[in-house]
Amino acid sequence: MNRRNFLTSSLIAGTVAATESFLPTNIFSQQKEKSMPFTLPTLPYAHDALEPYIDTLTMQIHHGKHHQAYVDNLNKAVAGTEWESKSLEEILANISKLAPAVRNNGGGHFNHSMFWQVMKQNGGGMPSGELAEAINRDFASFDKFKEAFGNAGITRFGSGWSWLVSQHGKLVVCSTQNQDNPMMDIVEVKGVPILGMDVWEHAYYLKYQNRRAEYVGAFWNVVNWDEVAKRFASAK
Ligand code: MN
Repeated sequence: MNRRNFLTSSLIAGTVAATESFLPTNIFSQQKEKSMPFTLPTLPYAHDALEPYIDTLTMQIHHGKHHQAYVDNLNKAVAGTEWESKSLEEILANISKLAPAVRNNGGGHFNHSMFWQVMKQNGGGMPSGELAEAINRDFASFDKFKEAFGNAGITRFGSGWSWLVSQHGKLVVCSTQNQDNPMMDIVEVKGVPILGMDVWEHAYYLKYQNRRAEYVGAFWNVVNWDEVAKRFASAK
């Protein structure tokens, strides 16, 4: 039995001396056991699930290396601050008050966590139900929406994201630089993102090289519209 378990079980049994639980060794062992607030979510499908549109090696590096680095660096950036115990959403809503490392890595963690979810094997097709109605209402047609969303990604200079955003049920398309997103208090177009497309070169370069527009075209084959619809419903 290690010291912590001994103390816990002794406390439960009511046999530990009153001073015992205040020993500094106990405090140190609790600090050591404390876990990092943010963790890498498991990919909801195999690395090769999005082939041939998004290749296996890109998925392995993108999720296992890039996203992991955002998580690790976010944990480092908030360590020892009041933000350590806050939710990621709360952090993003207050990002103007925080260091660039939190903005870059907090955004990176949020954006990628969402990105994996809004894609799936055998995805694509068209949305249905309330989401389809809202897209037709706010963009005139599904094709017009695809054009706007795709262009937002294609024309983003350098690295960034293309977003479909719900503003209290009204849908708009926008693009952000780097790892910014519509949840941040510093961006121009705010709201709840329900679909995001990563247009950083690390998202497509191994397969598509400089042909970003080709990657954007292929992206429509992996969109998980059920997940996007779920996010639209809960954002209202
Ligand atoms: Mn990325």
